[in-house]
Amino acid sequence: MTAPRPDFPMHVSVEQAREMLAALLPATETETVGLSDALGRTLAAPLAALVSHPSATESALDGIACREADTLTATAAALVRLRVVGESRAGVPFTGTVGAGECTRIYTGAPMPPGTDAICPVEELADEGDDVLLRRPASPGDVRPEGGDFRAGDDVMAAGLHLTAPRVALAAALGHRELSVRRKYRVALLSTGDEVVEPGEPLSAGQVYDSNRYGLAAMLRECGCDVLMLGHAPDSPDALHAAIESAGGADLLVTSGGVSMGKYDFMRDLLIEHGRVSFWKVRMRPGGPALLGGWQGLPVIGLPGNPVSSLVVFHVIVRPVLTGRPIQSLTLRAATPFRSLPDKAAFWRGVIDGGQVRDYGRQGSGILRSLSDADALVIVPEGQPVAAGDDVQVVLL
Ligand code: AMP
Ligand code: MG
Repeated sequence: MTAPRPDFPMHVSVEQAREMLAALLPATETETVGLSDALGRTLAAPLAALVSHPSATESALDGIACREADTLTATAAALVRLRVVGESRAGVPFTGTVGAGECTRIYTGAPMPPGTDAICPVEELADEGDDVLLRRPASPGDVRPEGGDFRAGDDVMAAGLHLTAPRVALAAALGHRELSVRRKYRVALLSTGDEVVEPGEPLSAGQVYDSNRYGLAAMLRECGCDVLMLGHAPDSPDALHAAIESAGGADLLVTSGGVSMGKYDFMRDLLIEHGRVSFWKVRMRPGGPALLGGWQGLPVIGLPGNPVSSLVVFHVIVRPVLTGRPIQSLTLRAATPFRSLPDKAAFWRGVIDGGQVRDYGRQGSGILRSLSDADALVIVPEGQPVAAGDDVQVVLL
């Protein structure tokens, strides 16, 4: 007799896995946060510029502001002389007008005085009484035009943008003190396995410290999530059932372990019995046995227990969905060959050196040091081996 066909998709691609997870995650409500709490959040509404930046045409350098036309002949051998009639500092503009043959001292970020159109940097000047002598022509290129970065009223930041540090700075420069953002995802995290032990406790042969939960919690926080630590459950359907129930109120439950074919891998059957399986197994290595489903409205992603597998599945499938930021891959030259697999994408750990990427070597999914030591995951599509010297796509770790 053949086994009954499962009524859920198996062996989905990495892209399908991402799409299916995204479809299960609820859109969170919006809330208002101050700029200091905005890092890692997702903008809920577009942000327009309340002011222009720069707010006035200003100097990019310390030096003098003058008329370019007066200075065109200046060289080290034929200095050009200008009369200094005042100064313009950041926050304190020069109030007069600069005429022909005149200049003001000017400092970075100070408004250009009326009548001037060019800057000569302080390094190219010599003082002589009330005059300065220029060794080269003043340059309009060192003037920053008003609104050269953005203009008041411009729509500068789009809704859905993940707020990185530079984007927090930009939001502040636009003039916003508070931002409308999506509520953080609340993600519950559960480790499974009879052998899994809390770090710091005594460890018997055959047991392993719970590295997955701490690694995954750290990655979730990097994604801007609130983490609900459910601790660790032994390999028993009843204990797992109770632990999963305790995730109520979360937007997503992430588990590690118990999703493979072993006799003590209960996650899949529990979901079949009490919830729903969306897919089981992804065409990738490491991480092949990953499982997605739902438990009374709670999306559940079951990551494999192997430490490298769980963190790689998180990196390439879960992180892009939680942050709304697609995976950013870049092309590097392979310094060593990378083998391909016939029916799945490989994510080998690579070390970047001199602009090239080489095989880390020990690629077993239990070698946690490979993730810690490596710089990147080298993506080798199914059936397309990489030779030394080929270009290859990598994702930075
Ligand atoms: P499993 O997916 O449950 O079959 O576990 C596969 C491998 O991952 C086994 O060697 C486990 O001991 C190991 N493992 C499972 N859970 C964890 C964990 N939380 N931290 C570190 N290793 C784990
Ligand atoms: Mg297990």
